Amino acid sequence: MPQRVPVVLLAACLAAAVTQAQSGPNQSRARAIYKELVEINTTDTPAGSVTKAAEAMAAHLRAAGFPAADVQVLGPDPRKHNLVARYRGTGARRPLLLLAHLDVVEARREDWSFDPFMFREEDGWFYGRGTSDDKAMASQFVANLIRLKEEGFVPDRDLILALTADEEGGEFNGVTWLVREHRDLIDAEFAINEGGGGTMRRGKYLTNEVQASEKIYQDFRLEVTNSGGHSSLPIKDNAIYRLAQGLARLSALEFPVELNEITREYFARSAMVENDPAAAADMRAVARTAPDLAAAARLSARLPYWNAMMRTTCVATRLSGGHANNALPQAATATVNCRILPGTDPEPVRTRLVGALADPGIAVSLIGTANQSKPSALRADVMGAVEDLTKSMFPGVIVVPVMSTGATDGLFLRNGGIPTYGIDGTFADIDDIRAHGKDERVGVKQFYEGLEFHYRLIKALSSPVGSPR
Ligand SMILES: [Zn+2]
Repeated sequence: MPQRVPVVLLAACLAAAVTQAQSGPNQSRARAIYKELVEINTTDTPAGSVTKAAEAMAAHLRAAGFPAADVQVLGPDPRKHNLVARYRGTGARRPLLLLAHLDVVEARREDWSFDPFMFREEDGWFYGRGTSDDKAMASQFVANLIRLKEEGFVPDRDLILALTADEEGGEFNGVTWLVREHRDLIDAEFAINEGGGGTMRRGKYLTNEVQASEKIYQDFRLEVTNSGGHSSLPIKDNAIYRLAQGLARLSALEFPVELNEITREYFARSAMVENDPAAAADMRAVARTAPDLAAAARLSARLPYWNAMMRTTCVATRLSGGHANNALPQAATATVNCRILPGTDPEPVRTRLVGALADPGIAVSLIGTANQSKPSALRADVMGAVEDLTKSMFPGVIVVPVMSTGATDGLFLRNGGIPTYGIDGTFADIDDIRAHGKDERVGVKQFYEGLEFHYRLIKALSSPVGSPR
């Protein structure tokens, strides 16, 4: 006698079969878009154009049936246009904003093992500038919106896609411009952005991070001036030597350990998946109300990321001095880049730099004004959806809230009143971070998992509560 299959179960099986059938074509689509994006140079150089990438993505959306009026390419500079597209829903709830930046950090051919602007797949990896930061996410968003459109999905809120310029620097930050000039186009109940995502180590999946806060970016300029003179007649007081000696002292500066609600939770949860019992014990020890400083020191020495989560960091990033080979230097300057814990002002950080340099002849000034960054409250709907999806797609992986050690566009959205969460299902090895660096890459398997993760996440966050996902 045939077993009676409950209708609900049957429907679920059918839905799973449809999902399976669709994910194959969506993978090829996403890969093609990803390749196209990586091969469009979007650096902030004369060779780069974000507009070109925005136009290319707009063309895909229009071809998929998005009305032209809902796909806009706009911006303050001819080379720095942003894409803003709207997938119309029933309007039962306020929109969800999907944000990814199109621009990438400059990459020089001679610094890489191959052409950074040629997409390549090799030994299970996708290589190219922007593969991890942030063109994987951008192409996943575009491919998924097209897939949803093809499936006839009707969200209960508008889905807004914004692919933006100058996240990595440059004069025309897309998010800032959109918040200021076209708030109506991107206004949303909350946003999903880069900055979070799955972590793994040697192939083992560990945590899925939800970024809800980020550190504050502030550069400082160090300068020594001197009257100079002929280099055949050197004197002891030399601008280059003075600055170099100050920098050597600065290299020993370490800011105090300070945890907040999000980083404390990060270490407490990470301890559950840490393989090494000693490191796990140290994580639990720093997660206490009064953190164990010896444990913090051990964690800091072990991983730069853990160190950066626990304290403000400052590091010298640029150096220049002198004006001729045969002249005593009249000036020597250095840039020190600080990543400041949220809630801390740059001025006390400057005071600490001055103290560490221990030379009144080295002037320390702020470059630009830091953007303060307000953490986003951890929403139950967002956290719940990420927990559910992580459990079903990556069993054993723990969801942890994090504070980004770097800065993203989430900052400008949060400051503009749109709560923003860094969420990503594309896992990356925490010992192999290549964003901004040489031979940037993303695992092929991880890229496709991330694609499916975002597809399900968007559906979960834009379907009436209680409906099958
Ligand atoms: Zn990025």
